Amino acid sequence: MSRPKPNILVTGTPGVGKTTFCEALAAASSLEHLEVSKMVREKRLYREWDDELDCSIFDEEMVQDALEPLLESGGCVVDFHSSSFLDESLVDLVVVLRVDTSTLYDRLEKRHYPESKVKQNVEAEIFQSCLDEVFEEADIQIWEMPHDTEEHMEEALERVLGFVRSFG
Ligand code: ADP
Ligand code: MN
Ligand code: MN
Repeated sequence: MSRPKPNILVTGTPGVGKTTFCEALAAASSLEHLEVSKMVREKRLYREWDDELDCSIFDEEMVQDALEPLLESGGCVVDFHSSSFLDESLVDLVVVLRVDTSTLYDRLEKRHYPESKVKQNVEAEIFQSCLDEVFEEADIQIWEMPHDTEEHMEEALERVLGFVRSFG
């Protein structure tokens, strides 16, 4: 399948800096940032609620239906912690952002997440849940990149912008 511009999936545990990175990437390129968690909230792409974590449980089909038409023509940066339900033929590069446990703990505390939610996300990062969830497709590169510092973000941006420039 050929697209004039690539679609890039940016994934990772909540708090690794997906949205920060995607905003910078969109600003430095002609790609469009799709903040999926915001779409889930605004378009109500859920049918269930997690009482323990007090958050919605997104509906895979509803998210697919909202995303797929946008991805068809390429040029999108998909910002989401979950990826297994995505159609891999719509994705050209996967970026998995990673941080140290202490970095993530501090960032989630600052978000005033309840202790149980901080703990669950820190465990997800330790067990690299988001990385393991990424589909494996021979043609699609999966780049796992550290994102603890500004310098890390600059490095990741450079590399991904290089991919965007050489795409096609
Ligand atoms: P996510 O979208 O993955 O949940 P955010 O982009 O909201 O994460 O970032 C979480 C917090 O971490 C924010 O306060 C943000 O400013 C900070 N942050 C993100 N990336 C970096 C980085 N590379 N270096 C330092 N702080 C960062
Ligand atoms: Mn985010
Ligand atoms: Mn687009």
